[in-house]
Amino acid sequence: MEKVILLCVLSICLSPVHTQKFFFSPKWGPIGYKVHEERDGGTAMDEIIKANEFHASQMLDGTTSLREGDIAVSSGRRSKVCFARSCLWSKSVDGHVYIAYSLSPEYSETETKLIKQGMENIEKGTCVRFVPWTHQQDYIDIQPKSGCWSYLGARGGRQTVSLQNPDCLQVGVISHEFMHTLGFVHEQSRFDRDNYVTIMWPNIWRDRVRNFEKFRTDILDLPYDYGSIMHFGMYAYSQNGQPTISPKNKDIKLGQASTLSRIDRLKINKLYKCGWYQSF
Ligand SMILES: [Zn+2]
Repeated sequence: MEKVILLCVLSICLSPVHTQKFFFSPKWGPIGYKVHEERDGGTAMDEIIKANEFHASQMLDGTTSLREGDIAVSSGRRSKVCFARSCLWSKSVDGHVYIAYSLSPEYSETETKLIKQGMENIEKGTCVRFVPWTHQQDYIDIQPKSGCWSYLGARGGRQTVSLQNPDCLQVGVISHEFMHTLGFVHEQSRFDRDNYVTIMWPNIWRDRVRNFEKFRTDILDLPYDYGSIMHFGMYAYSQNGQPTISPKNKDIKLGQASTLSRIDRLKINKLYKCGWYQSF
């Protein structure tokens, strides 16, 4: 059996996030949540948090909720199957992993261009190729729904990736969501993360503590990647403006704003066994 990135401790019954508990103020967002203004540019996840906490509900519909801030999890049968095995996209005989996509006509030309840049970002140095959907059974349907989110890995059939416009239409955010689509969870949810970062629990907005869980994932024999596009920023879900994640090596910056790290590309090639691709 292939060992791949899985969430093996996800409970089947996800309790709905209590969205009704918050009071929203148009200027500041949910009470108790503080946005940290990064002086030198934040991470892709910072942008996602802003979009999802301020505009989107954590419950997408009656059966689908967001896990870790932007991973759609459905309580339906298909998700259970998906979380119990690999959920890899299938690989073509030519060695590439083709992901068919359809794109909502609601996106403007500029927005479409940005989404394609996000795809190119994933393709560069990896075996993944995005192709327009024609007849393929499994494909992603990119829609400007509420918030930025994706399901984890291939679910089988059509699956939505939500890229709300304009909030989610940044190349880094788009690439981050496609990494979820490929099957990757957030870097700091690695089981061994406590060797590399300290989670500052008292600083985390109480209603989002669950977003900092660890999962027993296959780390693919790759080093912990502080600079992954899948890493939360230092102030993710801070309730008081203080850091919520502190690297053990104090001088290191967490996360990535716009592009995949070298190790992110290696991760893709290892997970999909495309070892002959050079990563740079
Ligand atoms: Zn994410």
